[in-house]
Amino acid sequence: CGIVGYTGQKQAYPILIEGLKKLEYRGYDSAGVALHTGNGINVYKKQGKVAALEEFANGHPLAATTGIGHTRWATHGEPSDRNAHPHSSASGNIALIHNGIIENYAQLKNELLANGYAFNSDTDSEVLLNFIEDIKLNNSCSLEEAVRIALKRVTGAYVILLIDKAYPDTIIAARKGSPLVIGVGRNEHFLGSDASPMLAYTKEVVYINDYELAIVRPDELVLKNLGNESITPFVQKLDLELAAIE
Ligand code: GLU
Repeated sequence: CGIVGYTGQKQAYPILIEGLKKLEYRGYDSAGVALHTGNGINVYKKQGKVAALEEFANGHPLAATTGIGHTRWATHGEPSDRNAHPHSSASGNIALIHNGIIENYAQLKNELLANGYAFNSDTDSEVLLNFIEDIKLNNSCSLEEAVRIALKRVTGAYVILLIDKAYPDTIIAARKGSPLVIGVGRNEHFLGSDASPMLAYTKEVVYINDYELAIVRPDELVLKNLGNESITPFVQKLDLELAAIE
């Protein structure tokens, strides 16, 4: 299970695929990507290896400079195409990837079902996504604000990345109990479960802490806590020995 993300000037898809291959050692049963085209979000996902995802995506529109990618180790819902990540929200406007477990998903799912939501997968992750979207719609707030409100009610472990149709170059990321590293480049940012997907591009990284939320754009990395207070990102330079693994 692993996550990758990219927003910048380069083509996102090859960076995401190479990144997912670097994370294959973590083990997984399915893989997928969500690509922001500027006007919308294309999601490609497949049970099996990253190579199967590539074969499936081949021939589909792949042009995008912002995207997120996932390898899944199923915890809720069998390994299958429909349970693979990314998941799309009920409106189709938001895509999410998640590693970890949402412990109170059953309660949240019941609330959403009572409010008329339907689900396309058996995952706890899709519940979290629609919970976030429901908060966004009810409060007419930004995705960032909705994520913050949602995470205060969520128990469990997670690293999540989200992209929103309305914000072509922005990735929202948050973690608790699962690893998240952000690589800082020139007018570009990389996200990963570890630094291996970004080592070919940058040695400057920020390790995100529990209960931190990152708003990531090509030219900007904003870090906040769940109380909406800004945190100054601590940029570390990876030493050459670690970089040499690349
Ligand atoms: N709990 C989620 C699922 O079963 C995420 C699993 C993972 O960490 O990959 O889909």
